[in-house]
Amino acid sequence: MKIKYLGTAAAEGIPAMFCACELCQKARRLGGKDVRMRSQMLIDGDILVDFGPDVFYFTLKYGFNLSQIRYFLITHSHGDHWIPQPFKYRKQGFSYEHIRKEFYIIGSDKITGDPLLLSLEEKIPGRRVTAKPFEPLFFCDLKVTPLPATHMQIECALTYLIERDGKSLLYFNDTGVVGKEVDEFLKAAGARIDLVSFDCTKGDIPYNYNSHMSLAECTSMKERFLEAGICGSFTRFIVTHFSHNCRYTHAELEQAAQRYGFTVACDGLEIEI
Ligand SMILES: [Zn+2]
Ligand SMILES: [Zn+2]
Ligand SMILES: [Zn+2]
Repeated sequence: MKIKYLGTAAAEGIPAMFCACELCQKARRLGGKDVRMRSQMLIDGDILVDFGPDVFYFTLKYGFNLSQIRYFLITHSHGDHWIPQPFKYRKQGFSYEHIRKEFYIIGSDKITGDPLLLSLEEKIPGRRVTAKPFEPLFFCDLKVTPLPATHMQIECALTYLIERDGKSLLYFNDTGVVGKEVDEFLKAAGARIDLVSFDCTKGDIPYNYNSHMSLAECTSMKERFLEAGICGSFTRFIVTHFSHNCRYTHAELEQAAQRYGFTVACDGLEIEI
């Protein structure tokens, strides 16, 4: 499984577009790994996790096009993770040749019931698949297990266990610390997770905001997963989805994350498991 972090920031990006705080000014000056687009991930060239406002830029920067995506896997409807409008441009007239003749849009009923997608039903060959927590979805070459995030009141935001060719990735954002039923379900399912990608919006600052996580909270989840036996020495742990509120540059985040045993994602990071 080839994983590519396209974007690694929270909703406002880094530098946050309206912000002149010390970190944002530094990020503008330093560029490189200190600039972060909104979070999205590309897997094996044909799975896109989330579909946010920077998607057009990603296709240009990383040399792919959206007609090659077979699975659009959406975590929740917050605007940094889901913007349905571009699907209009899959219609005849806006596009002609497509690498995939069909594709899937997978998400909660909030995503699959999106009025714009419904209005496009006859015009684009995208199958909408409604994901429910703890109910695995099977595709010809992929298994996706939706799990409940701790993130929003009005919608069931989801995290996903993504399995293909004997490898597994737990994509664990946007979420705060989740209930123990997640560990129990994964343990009962016999999961052995090769990579866990954690929400780390708060960086090393444990401020009181429970719909995202800090390094300390990611560590508590990591320890739970190790104890449940679903992770082990075979597991890589990565942190992503950073906000400028965490106040750390990439180098400072790396220094802090080392103490907890995490790799810090940056835009463009590629990992093969
Ligand atoms: Zn987000
Ligand atoms: Zn800022
Ligand atoms: Zn969110």
